[in-house]
Amino acid sequence: MKYISVAIDGPAGAGKSSVSKAAAKSMGFTYIDTGAMYRAVAVFAINEGIDIRSDSEKLVKRLDEINIDIKYENGEQHIYLCETDISERIRKEDASVGASDVAIIPEVRTKLVELQRKMAKSANVIMDGRDICSYVLPEAQVKIFLTASLQSRAVRRYKELCDKGIECDYEQIKSDMEYRDKNDSQRAVAPLKKADDALLLDTTELSFEQVVEKIKELIQNAL
Ligand code: C5P
Repeated sequence: MKYISVAIDGPAGAGKSSVSKAAAKSMGFTYIDTGAMYRAVAVFAINEGIDIRSDSEKLVKRLDEINIDIKYENGEQHIYLCETDISERIRKEDASVGASDVAIIPEVRTKLVELQRKMAKSANVIMDGRDICSYVLPEAQVKIFLTASLQSRAVRRYKELCDKGIECDYEQIKSDMEYRDKNDSQRAVAPLKKADDALLLDTTELSFEQVVEKIKELIQNAL
C-alpha cells in the first residue's frame, strides 16, 4: 500500500509541531517529530558526559548503543532512549542546543534518516524537521516550509515552555534560537533551507487555526 507523506520543514519555533500535531489528529495521520530524535541523541551525550562540540568522535563510536524508540500513547508521541521515556527531558534548553550540535554530525543524520524513512513507509504521516522536504522524503505528496520572524518564534517558545511549567529565560531562548538558526542553515550536511517545490507559509501574521486549515486543505487536495 502506498501511504501519503506530508513533509514540513522550518526553523525552531515556527509552530511546526503544534500545527502538525493538530492537522495529523484531524486527518487521522501519524505525526512524527524528527527533532525529538536529534534531541534524544543529545540527551544520550549529556547523560554520558560527552562534550558534543569537542568530542563528536566519541559520540559516533557509541552510536550503536543509542536505542531510540517512538511509541504512541493516547495519540501522543513518546520518545524512549534505551527504554527510558525522555519525552519531557528532551524539551530542556540544553537538549535543544545539544540537538543542533549533534545534527551537524553526518553519522548521526544517517542513522536517524534511516529510521524516519522506515516510519514513513508504514503509515500516512505528517513529518516535521529541517530536511524532510529536501532530503528525507523528497517524494512527499505535500511539502511545506513553515517560518515566522525570530521575535515571534522566541515569544511562542517562551510561552510554550512556561505553559508546561518549565523554567526559562526569554533572552536566553532568543539567543539559543539565533544560534540554532545559524547552525542549522550553515551546516554542510542537509542544511535547513526551503526545498524549491515546498510551499512557503509565513505564520507571523497567521493564527494557529489558519495554518492548520491550510495544511488540511493541501492534504485533501493530495488525497
Ligand atoms: O525541531 P526541534 O527544535 O525539536 O529540533 C531540534 C534540533 O534538531 C534542530 O535545531 C536541528 O538542529 C535538528 N534537526 C535536524 N533535522 C531535523 C530535525 C531536527 O537537523 N529533521
